[in-house]
Amino acid sequence: MGPPDPIIGLNDAFKNDTNPNKVNVGVGAYRDDLGSPYVLPVVRKAESLVSSSGLDHEYAGIAGEQEFVDLAMEFAYGDDCVKIKEGKVKGVQTLSGTGGLRVMGEFLAKFGKHKHIYVPDPTWGNHIPIMQNCGLEVKKYRYYDAGNSGLDFSGLVEDMEKAPEGSCFLLHACAHNPTGMDPTESQWSEISKVIKEKGHFPFFDCAYQGFASGNAPKDAWSIRKFVSDGHELALVQSFSKNFGLYGQRVGCLSWVAGSEEEAKRVESQMKIVIRPSYSNPPRHGARIVATILRDEGMTKEFVDQCKGMADRIGGMRTALRSSLEDAGSTRDWSHVTSQIGMFAYSGLSKEQVERMRDEFSVYGTLDGRISMAGVTKGNVEYIAKAMHECTK
Ligand code: PMP
Repeated sequence: MGPPDPIIGLNDAFKNDTNPNKVNVGVGAYRDDLGSPYVLPVVRKAESLVSSSGLDHEYAGIAGEQEFVDLAMEFAYGDDCVKIKEGKVKGVQTLSGTGGLRVMGEFLAKFGKHKHIYVPDPTWGNHIPIMQNCGLEVKKYRYYDAGNSGLDFSGLVEDMEKAPEGSCFLLHACAHNPTGMDPTESQWSEISKVIKEKGHFPFFDCAYQGFASGNAPKDAWSIRKFVSDGHELALVQSFSKNFGLYGQRVGCLSWVAGSEEEAKRVESQMKIVIRPSYSNPPRHGARIVATILRDEGMTKEFVDQCKGMADRIGGMRTALRSSLEDAGSTRDWSHVTSQIGMFAYSGLSKEQVERMRDEFSVYGTLDGRISMAGVTKGNVEYIAKAMHECTK
């Protein structure tokens, strides 16, 4: 018997808990203010358009729905991206972010300059086994300074400078998971410079575009900056959080190459990775996203609804911090409101998280990460009380 997954496994423990006050702040899936799963109204609308359009269920190509891929790339790189116009950017539809990471990991293991990849310390837990299973050695670069609940920027730059030339660096495009701490624009510019100088290869993981700040172009700033700085790079996009399409597995893996010819060669190799892996991706979710992004009016509805989710989370950050203060906590909780995205990296130790679970039925991950999406007006005070009791 293998151990349960550290994140998904929490759901089972939560389900079996009979405490009526139980709260799940483990898994990163958005909930509305009543704690229920949320389907964006524009997604419902797109679904009915897709189902009434009489499309068949033939196989997609190995690279998926081309229109979806084109729209996804435009969403990330911007509709004014010169490299797209020059044909230097290509992509494939993937099984959401996770699937795109896996395909890219296999590609790197075959063609990368080194058989290693650098990931931030800490990073989303699944990055590590995904890359290891592709045959890559996972190395870490400094990212978070627990002492001041902030970015360890000088450590990060130093590690990039010290890494062997031509190393692949995995970068969270926005809303770093789990810390919620992103580099500032000027820090991104410096990172871009160091990566360029050392000939490293940037690989962006963008799982929260639009969901982080409520403004999709702003959340793609780092990616667009690197492209305009002339990097060749790869990017994996997830449409799980921003479009709320978790179970549909909608993602895109794209790359900016040095020439159109090179972009095509990479595409051919990506297809060679995909075909014996899952053959081709599912169509429905990609059709939903394409239906929205091809239409200006529906895109606007999406932007508003995505911002609505980001704003509710922002409001809950403020509420959680003030509830902690009201509960009498004298710890500094300012990072709860300064972090962005879905998570609060609370600074709670493993033992404190375990106490929250055992004594209060508040389920977070053992690294102290709290999914703000699970916090509501109805449970915020209860969560704050539990956090305070366990951190006294
Ligand atoms: N990357 C990051 C940083 C994430 O936080 C997530 C989701 N937790 C993913 C990738 C993958 O999610 P999915 O496979 O649902 O797109």
